[in-house]
Amino acid sequence: MLQMDAAREGRATEEMKSVASEEGLDVRELVEKIARGTVVIPKNRLSSHRAVGLGEGLRTKINANIGTSADASDLETELAKLDAAVEAGADAVMDLSTGGDIDAIRRAIVERSPVPVGTVPIYQAAVRARRDGRGMISMTADDMLGAVEDHAKDGVDFVTVHCGVTLEVAEHCRRTPRIADVVSRGGSFLMEWMAHNGRENPLYERYDDLLDMCREYDLTISLGDGLRPGALADANDAAQVAELTVISELVFRARARGVQTIVEGPGHVPLHLVEASVDLEKSLCDGAPFYVLGPLVTDVAPGYDHVGAAIGGAIAAMAGADFLCYVTPAEHLRLPTVDDVREGVYTLRVAAHAADVGKGIPGAREWDDRLSQARRSLDWEEVIRLSLDPEKAKAFRDASPPKDDELCTMCGEFCAIRKMTQVREREGG
Ligand code: SF4
Repeated sequence: MLQMDAAREGRATEEMKSVASEEGLDVRELVEKIARGTVVIPKNRLSSHRAVGLGEGLRTKINANIGTSADASDLETELAKLDAAVEAGADAVMDLSTGGDIDAIRRAIVERSPVPVGTVPIYQAAVRARRDGRGMISMTADDMLGAVEDHAKDGVDFVTVHCGVTLEVAEHCRRTPRIADVVSRGGSFLMEWMAHNGRENPLYERYDDLLDMCREYDLTISLGDGLRPGALADANDAAQVAELTVISELVFRARARGVQTIVEGPGHVPLHLVEASVDLEKSLCDGAPFYVLGPLVTDVAPGYDHVGAAIGGAIAAMAGADFLCYVTPAEHLRLPTVDDVREGVYTLRVAAHAADVGKGIPGAREWDDRLSQARRSLDWEEVIRLSLDPEKAKAFRDASPPKDDELCTMCGEFCAIRKMTQVREREGG
């Protein structure tokens, strides 16, 4: 039985029980949220991946994008990125491969990953069309839907589908002055396809067929924002809102069929518009889980885009975003390395956790308090054990050994913590 169908009958599946236990929630409350569609558990019925909940009242989750490109394609490297992402605490990964044997890469990632796996099947349809010598503009509706089905059969748990890029939305985009135009790969494929063929986006036109397929596998739909802003100047503009309006309709249609749905969001958004961006999605899409890429709050930090994304991600999550797609230091510059992946996951986890503390997510603040107690006790082993990235914390401490083992080289003998401990002891505290 599908997760959503079961929830609507008031039944808690094993996945729901597992998520409720992990999140410290009452399972009945979780079942109600899944029934309404404000929480989803992306899990293909053929998949053995961990059950992870996304949405209202749950811990903010992190996704790591991995996968090859036409210029850099090596299966072993992508599997090493998968391992690094999972070790660093990613809650899900997306395989965005477009280079090499993408079927073999996807299957290997699905096979090895302990966490839910997402994909963007239109990449597959586009790569196949190019390899067949037909070119992307000759993709058929069956090519696009067939790619979704191939991924579902392989056990992929959620798929990004850019169903909201319709002819009408494309026209909005043409009339909207933008700096970065369309920056989503899937969005640009469909814009080119519609412009060339003069026909409606097949993923919109055949949305009911897509929903049938999702029901067969309990595949979760991630409604991609093909017109997401790729520059601060383009944030929250008419083209983005036009697409979000279509996505809103698609969320209701999916829910009516019992298909779990999440909504993707920006992108590049100036700090003062991040909250409005989240509010708009939550309001138009009836509280559907919101999956944002960062967002980046400045365009001028190539090499540090993971930091810009963490700033935007913390604000977005505090405002209600549920699922943060990481950004690595390599964003906009090259395919990430294994180290970039690790750095990206940890950096966005800082953002997610900061928001969880602010939102009062059960257990979040307690973690901080335990680490602070250990710091106050100068209990370095415990400080390192409780650190988000213990390996990095230990490496930093080991790289600069203090003269007095109880302290660190930051202040040495002038350690404020030890001094105040002595002061309190003299006071009899
Ligand atoms: S030496 Fe300074 S930085 Fe290090 S533990 Fe003491 S107060 Fe903190």
